Amino acid sequence: MRQVVMTRPREIVVEDRADPTIVEPTDAVIRLAATCVCGSDLWPYRGVQDVDHQVMGHEYVGVVEQIGTEVETIAVGDFVVGSFWASDNTCEICRAGYQSHCVHRTIMGSIGTQSERARIPLADGTLVATPGQPDADLIPSLLAASDVLGTGWFAADTAQAGPGKTVAVVGDGAVGLLAILAARRMGAARIIAFSRHADRQKLAREFGATDIVETRGDEGAAEVVALTGGLGAHSVVEAVGTQEAMMQAIHSARPGGHVGFVGVSHDVSIPGELLFGTGVHLAGGPAPVRRYLPELIDLIWRREIDPGKVFDLTLPLDRAAEGYRAMDERRAIKVLLTV
Ligand SMILES: [Zn+2]
Repeated sequence: MRQVVMTRPREIVVEDRADPTIVEPTDAVIRLAATCVCGSDLWPYRGVQDVDHQVMGHEYVGVVEQIGTEVETIAVGDFVVGSFWASDNTCEICRAGYQSHCVHRTIMGSIGTQSERARIPLADGTLVATPGQPDADLIPSLLAASDVLGTGWFAADTAQAGPGKTVAVVGDGAVGLLAILAARRMGAARIIAFSRHADRQKLAREFGATDIVETRGDEGAAEVVALTGGLGAHSVVEAVGTQEAMMQAIHSARPGGHVGFVGVSHDVSIPGELLFGTGVHLAGGPAPVRRYLPELIDLIWRREIDPGKVFDLTLPLDRAAEGYRAMDERRAIKVLLTV
């Protein structure tokens, strides 16, 4: 099969690799219907994170081709969506809704789903089957549920977005944009998007943003405070992962407000005095996307949400390198790879 490999920063190749097989009796093997490039793939691409001949990709939808002898709820032929953490969905941490911290978890990036086929560990816990074979136009949205929608949803939920609330979103990548969609679905009254790119501002408004702030950092946060009568937002999503973004998020929240942070943290440190002084609630980390998958698949299946709009460039798997380049240069919000 064909599989994407990052040999070193800025070098993406598509190689012939052996087809995956069932290793554990709880595994499934799927044939990918589509996969994509994640904003987090850009950290190693840009050399911020070490990389050496790493298989890539952790978002996936597809059809089950094989199952292990202990797989019970997933059948060959099912169309399935899974999260970027494989999880048993039965341990105490999973049952509490934190499947991304499952005691038996496997990160799908170590297996690589920018490929024609993939082995999915803990298939019963990890995968959710759709009600039937999806129409082609639903596939991008189902793929979005695998990570960016689920992550944006978790961020908005953790930030306690809800009826009557003002929500601010730091980060105008796919996760930030879909946190806007999530906050809208959760009934937020006002959604302030930080963005300085016209194409992303447009999508932000389509997803439900009511206000756009183009300034960043302390100045941007001060603008949110000014827009909210001097109080700050009730709920803030941090979907970048840098020091500046985290500070911007905390300073955009009102005293007692909630910040949901899902940007993969890179050298972020939060001063204790700031936490103490602001009285802001902070929670986040790798999103337990599996918690939300049944609800998200249902909303997509009934065509109530269209998160697949974040994919603004589609390329065949063999042209993955172009996809990475387009995202690195911010010419594309998110790249879908057809398999
Ligand atoms: Zn678990």
